[in-house]
Amino acid sequence: MKVLVINTGSSSIKYQLFNMPSGQVFCSGLLERVGDIKGILTHKTYPGTDKELKHVETKPIRNHSVGMARVAELLVDKEFGIINSANEIDLVGHRVVHGGEKFAKTTEITKDVKEAIKHLSPLAPLHNPANLIGIEVAEQIFAKAKQVAVFDTAFHQSIPEKAFRYAIPSKFYTKNGVRVYGFHGTSHRYITKRAASLLNKPIEEVNLITIHIGNGASMAAIKNGKSIDTTLGLTPLPGLVMGTRSGDIDPGVIFYLNETLGYALKDIKNILNKESGLKGLTNDNDMRVITERVEKGDKEALLALEIYTYRIKKYIGAYLAAIGEKPDAIIFTAGVGENSAVIRLMAVGGLLHLGIELDAELNKKGGGERCISSTNSSIAIWVIPTNEELEIARQAVGIA
Ligand code: ADP
Repeated sequence: MKVLVINTGSSSIKYQLFNMPSGQVFCSGLLERVGDIKGILTHKTYPGTDKELKHVETKPIRNHSVGMARVAELLVDKEFGIINSANEIDLVGHRVVHGGEKFAKTTEITKDVKEAIKHLSPLAPLHNPANLIGIEVAEQIFAKAKQVAVFDTAFHQSIPEKAFRYAIPSKFYTKNGVRVYGFHGTSHRYITKRAASLLNKPIEEVNLITIHIGNGASMAAIKNGKSIDTTLGLTPLPGLVMGTRSGDIDPGVIFYLNETLGYALKDIKNILNKESGLKGLTNDNDMRVITERVEKGDKEALLALEIYTYRIKKYIGAYLAAIGEKPDAIIFTAGVGENSAVIRLMAVGGLLHLGIELDAELNKKGGGERCISSTNSSIAIWVIPTNEELEIARQAVGIA
């Protein structure tokens, strides 16, 4: 079965073509600066296990339609293609950011589902409209394929009301849906399934703290294989310190910036989403650069790492309490979590009294799924690389 996974952003499209159920990747690609005259398309084909054929185009990509049409051409291209016709695609799995309370599961896309995704757009104004464009373009190009929506919020729909409600007037929840939804659900779900398998436990019995730290970042408390709390909320702003997003702040900061310092609301929104987090603290948002600065003795960069990892540590404490029993494991994933030994060390350092200790040597070794806790640690610590695209493909096949 050939399954194409599409993740459409406001100015980008990511795609991967899978052979399912084996999970073999036929090709993958990224279109950047969609809608810009300086568009970039990177297409990679994997003709053999260790072979990679890379093709890059830099030319205007007028809109998502034009971009997807070019992807469809490349899929059947004589040199870089992998199939003979767009009709060979059996399933298209779309990442959709916001499913609200309506979508707790992966869903086949119908007219009504598209309407509902549109209706949820005020909750994800940058993402849901772009996801819808991706769906509509794919419906035309891959007309024979079943189209499936996999929602980033779905895995967190098991969070109980005491954890998902904000203590603001109830009407904002009952009438307007203001509550915690959480994001990165596809990643937390994939990690939960992998962890259950690696720990040799049925998924219904696995208790975890999952730490997804990439550009965006979130943690989840997993009890009996289900999400019971997470750090992102109505929007992807709260919780951990991120590349450019602030994470938790006192909401009063917004009024102070507005009323006392005279910043307009739209500027504050931009500051908290694009100018804060690691970037706000150091002027850099790439963890590699910040870590190099720390190695050279840069105090500002060190403070940023301290703030970043202290926040993770605080949530580990909170989620130990929320889970209410000793979790089986703490899992690090995504760009920073998979690659940065120093961040992992700072995040869980000094927690032996809670049964958490890294093995310094194992932590420094790179590569793949690995347990990095010491023999003293009663809670295991793992690194498990995430694979959101594969999870979307599996979810899509699951309802096919
Ligand atoms: P996204 O949220 O965009 O999917 P990723 O999960 O790819 O992000 O993570 C990207 C981040 O991972 C980058 O900001 C980069 O700082 C960080 N990263 C990647 N490799 C390393 C590394 N070797 N050491 C530290 N950080 C890294």
